[in-house]
Amino acid sequence: MVFKHPYQKLQHVCDMRKEYRGVSLPKELVDTIEEYIKKNPTSGYKSLADFVIDAIRLRLQDLGALPPSFTLMHINVNDNYALFWEKKPGERGHTVMVYFSEDSVRCGYCDSNRCYHVKQAVKEPDVIKEFERRKKLGLKIPDLSYLEE
Ligand SMILES: [Zn+2]
Repeated sequence: MVFKHPYQKLQHVCDMRKEYRGVSLPKELVDTIEEYIKKNPTSGYKSLADFVIDAIRLRLQDLGALPPSFTLMHINVNDNYALFWEKKPGERGHTVMVYFSEDSVRCGYCDSNRCYHVKQAVKEPDVIKEFERRKKLGLKIPDLSYLEE
């Protein structure tokens, strides 16, 4: 029993190491990043790794290899909207409101009912839960089959 805990801890570390791989970076770049982090404590970067991961993620989004950061902030059932925060590379970020009514879902940002915001919104667990709640109450929910086309 005494050895169980440390062993589990070690196992956990080993599992974590499998999820990471290392790359070598030019010293000059690393120095520039570290200097930037030191001089800009409000930038939100706590470490070199933090910065590098964010930089790579943004570049992948830029190339279309990763979708843009798009996160649900709030869903207001009474006012029938879901509020998202979206950040694209080189942008400061903006909010996206997706409205849902009895018979439609509409993105206020694109003024569209089939943009990727709408497609993402209807997949959000909280939005699905709300639609299910309405169904159970016998209320109308929008027909979203057109989104599959
Ligand atoms: Zn949209």
